Amino acid sequence: MKTKKQNPSWVCPKCGTDAIVKDGKTTNKISKQRFKCTECEHRTTMPRLPLNPVPMRSTLPKSKVYLITAAQNATPVHAGFWKSLERAKKFYNAELVVIPGRYKNPTSQWTQGNDEHEWWCPEVLPHLFDGRMKLNDRIMILGDVKIQWAAQTPLASMDALTKNMSGIVGHGKRALRSIATPQHKQPKLMLTTGACTLPNYTDTKQGALGEFNHCFGALIVEIDGDVFFVRELNADRRGAFIDLDMEFSPEGVRRAKRALSISMGDVHHRFILPHVVQATFTAKDSMMNLLRPRYLFLHDLLDFHTRNHHHKDDWITGYGKWKAGMECVRTEIEEAIRFVNEKTPKNCKSIIVSSNHDRALSRWLKEADFKKDPVNLGFYLEIAAEVAKRARMSESGIEYDDPFILYARTQKLAAKNVQFLEQGKSFVLADVEYGLHGDHGPNGSRGTTKNLSTIGIKVTKGHNHTAEIVDGCYSAGKSTGMLEYEAGGPSSHSNAHVIQYANGKRAIFFIINGRYCLNRRHALAKKGK
Ligand SMILES: [Zn+2]
Ligand SMILES: [Zn+2]
Repeated sequence: MKTKKQNPSWVCPKCGTDAIVKDGKTTNKISKQRFKCTECEHRTTMPRLPLNPVPMRSTLPKSKVYLITAAQNATPVHAGFWKSLERAKKFYNAELVVIPGRYKNPTSQWTQGNDEHEWWCPEVLPHLFDGRMKLNDRIMILGDVKIQWAAQTPLASMDALTKNMSGIVGHGKRALRSIATPQHKQPKLMLTTGACTLPNYTDTKQGALGEFNHCFGALIVEIDGDVFFVRELNADRRGAFIDLDMEFSPEGVRRAKRALSISMGDVHHRFILPHVVQATFTAKDSMMNLLRPRYLFLHDLLDFHTRNHHHKDDWITGYGKWKAGMECVRTEIEEAIRFVNEKTPKNCKSIIVSSNHDRALSRWLKEADFKKDPVNLGFYLEIAAEVAKRARMSESGIEYDDPFILYARTQKLAAKNVQFLEQGKSFVLADVEYGLHGDHGPNGSRGTTKNLSTIGIKVTKGHNHTAEIVDGCYSAGKSTGMLEYEAGGPSSHSNAHVIQYANGKRAIFFIINGRYCLNRRHALAKKGK
C-alpha cells in the first residue's frame, strides 16, 4: 500500500522521531486511522505531539556579563523594554538569557479561541534557556525550575536548592533573599529576574495580585573569577532602565542623570570597613563618583559601642574598651558626624536617619550612673542638663529631644548639607519613604522587611543588616564586618547599599573586596565615553 507523509509535527510515541505516515485503517467495528513510523516500524493509532516543540538552550556560552530576564508563554514582549535590553546587551557585550515562564490564562487576548499556549514570542526565542548552569563557583541560573507565574512569594522554600551557591530564578515579580550561611566572604542570595513580557494574568484574585506585582525588569550579573556582582534592572513604563551611570532606553544609550540617593548599609561608624569606604566614597569609580547622588542616607550612624547597654554587666568588654582607650562617648559621636561631613560632597545632602543605635545615647542618659563613669562625667552632665531644660508637656505626654541630635545641634557639629531626621519624621523621594530605620514595625511590633512591606507605601530601610527585597520594601545590609554581638551563628548579613536612580527605580549593590561592579572605566573607555 502506498503511504503518504502526514502531519509533520506528529511524532512516533515509541522512538520520538517525526517519521510518521498514514498506514491504512484498523478493522475494528469503529475503524480508526492507523499510522506507521518509518524509522522504527512501530504501528499506532495514536501518534503524539512533540513534548518540547519550542527549542530551548540548556547551556550558555561563557561570558563576563549576563543579562537575565523571564518571558511568559503565549505573551508578547514589552517592545520598549526589549529594545533597551538589546542596547544593554550590545553595550556590555553581554549574553542575554530569557528564562521561560509558563502560565495558562484562558481569558488571554493573545490566545483567544486557540488552545495552543506553548509558544513564546519570536524576539525571545534565540535567548530561551531552560537548563541549570553555574556562571561561576558562586552563582547559578535555575532555568529549569518552574515557578507558578502569579506566585506571591516566588522564592519561598528555595533556600537550600542551590546548596552554598546563589541562585537566579525566572519570575515576573521582583524579589531578593539573603540566606544565612556560616561563611561570610560572599553573600548567598536568591533572586528573581523580572519579566520582559506584558502582564497577562487571569481575572482571579491571584491573577490580579500577579498583575499588581508584575515588574518589567532583568538582572545584570558580572563575573570576575570567583566573585560575582548582581544588580536589579527595573524598567519604567517606556521600558527604559538605568544601570549604574548609564541609561538604556528604546531611543538609545546615554549617561544617566544623577541618582536620587544612596542608602548605605548600617554604618556603625566605629566599625565601618575600609573596603566599604573605598567602594562607596574613595575609589575612582566609587558609587559617589559614578552615581553622583542627590541624597545619602545613613542608618545606625553611631554604634554607641563606648557605653552600649549590652556591655553593662560585661567586665571583660569594659576592661577591653578601657585598655584600648575607646570609652569616650563624646569622641565617638563627634567622629561619626565628622565622617559624614567629610564624605558628603557639596552638591549632595546627607540625611542621618534616627536609628536604635543612635538612640542608645538616650537610654544611657536615663539609666547610667555618671558618678561611676569619670571618663564621661562631664559630657553626661552637660547633655543631661540640655535635655532636661527642653523637656516639655505635649498633647500626648512628655516630649524631649533626642540627645544625639540635640548635642550635634547645640555644638553645630554637622555641616550645612548634613541633616538629622528625627524619629517618626517622614522623608519621601519619588514615592519611596526613607524615614523608617526598620526597628519598629506596624502597631508596636518589631520591624521586619516583610511587615514594612505591607504598609501601603514603598520603603527603603536598614536595621536587620540583611539585603532583601519584599514587594515595595528594599532593605540595605551593613557597612561593617561581624559586630561583636553578632558573632557565632550563620549569618545572612552582607555589605550592601540600596540605590535609587533618577527614574525612581531602585537596586541593591553588594560590595565585595572593595568593588560593586566590574571595572567601570574600562567599559566606558571601550565605548569611547
Ligand atoms: Zn538598627
Ligand atoms: Zn545596625
